Amino acid sequence: MGSILNMLYKDSLHNFEKFIEDWNVETEYVLFGASKECVQFIRSMDILMGEGVLKIKYIVDHNVKDKDTLDNINEISTAYHESKVIQINRKGIKLVHIDNFNFDSQVIITTDVFKQKYKDYLENNNVKYTWYKNIASIWPYKHKNKVHIYQTDVLVTEKCTLACSYCNMFMPHYEFPIHRELNTIKSDIDSYFSIVDYVSVFHLVGGEPFLYPNIEDVVRYVITNYIHKIDKLIITTNGTIMPKDSLLELLRTNDVILSVSDYTDKLPHIQKKVLKVIKEYKNKKINHYVRNEIEWYDFGDLRIKVGRTEEELIKHFDSCTAPFRGLNDGKFYYCHLNTSAVRTNLFPLNDNDYVSINNVSKEDLIKFDLGFTNLGYVTFCDNCNGCNTGIKVPVSYEKQGLR
Ligand code: SF4
Repeated sequence: MGSILNMLYKDSLHNFEKFIEDWNVETEYVLFGASKECVQFIRSMDILMGEGVLKIKYIVDHNVKDKDTLDNINEISTAYHESKVIQINRKGIKLVHIDNFNFDSQVIITTDVFKQKYKDYLENNNVKYTWYKNIASIWPYKHKNKVHIYQTDVLVTEKCTLACSYCNMFMPHYEFPIHRELNTIKSDIDSYFSIVDYVSVFHLVGGEPFLYPNIEDVVRYVITNYIHKIDKLIITTNGTIMPKDSLLELLRTNDVILSVSDYTDKLPHIQKKVLKVIKEYKNKKINHYVRNEIEWYDFGDLRIKVGRTEEELIKHFDSCTAPFRGLNDGKFYYCHLNTSAVRTNLFPLNDNDYVSINNVSKEDLIKFDLGFTNLGYVTFCDNCNGCNTGIKVPVSYEKQGLR
């Protein structure tokens, strides 16, 4: 792809020198959004920049209940609430209701779900703000010469035990789903970590990852070689496959997190199997959380373009909070949905949508991760409803066609 440096998109962020002047490391900031992103942001910044370097005046949210001081920052996130492993050594951070914010501080927005809502609010009140991902990428790079990527997803297999019509990885669209070559996955991982110093979330996905015959090799390879560069190693599974004992032991001893998508209330025939698997995770003290209140949304059809104008596409892309970059066959995609769409062969590969992980400078990788693409969006955005963009197309259980 062409040089990202020539791109005009998000001009205010292009100049990292200017950014770190405007967002000075000495300033005390107000964080907007008591969310799991907020917890991860604080944690990643403490790891990357040093404990307490990010100075927090207080955290604002529109949903502050009885607590106004946090001794355990995990309390603000349902995802990390129970976690004994994910801990942050910060005590006494104040939680303030949005009505009590007095507009006198620079703000870092620390939520994906309410990003747009808070942006509108802060713009209406002339408050200077930025998004947490800008700080999380640019500060470590400029102050510590470290490349930090927030999240990267690696697809290990296209095969799955379920078939959801509106799967956001588009699994039903694969005509001949395959398991990926182990050596290709390993070489992708090596290339990635030869340039990336730290990733907050490294995510193995499928299909169903535990169907992949070499999943233990992949997990062992990542842990042996790169666990010091990863905050959270997560595997998303539908709970229908019991991992082998040796793999369970590997997961347990290395605090790998399993995110279990539990569809048993919709699919009685898998209930026995899934409950057994979850029980085993509990018995073996595997770090896991079960997501059983899953709502489905239609991300769009990978064969049908909406027909948005260039301006609409840039706006749509800018409002999307897609966290998942995709690492696949030497390419680092901005969006993992895009990665999977290309792998189905139904959506064309476009060199706007990825950078070659073997042939990109550190600064260009960071800029690409921050959303600097040649076009100002990725081409798949015209097929896609996006994340937290305001477009929500719920999919009923009947339509989802789980089977
Ligand atoms: S709009 Fe869709 S394709 Fe575009 S970045 Fe967001 S999730 Fe990815």
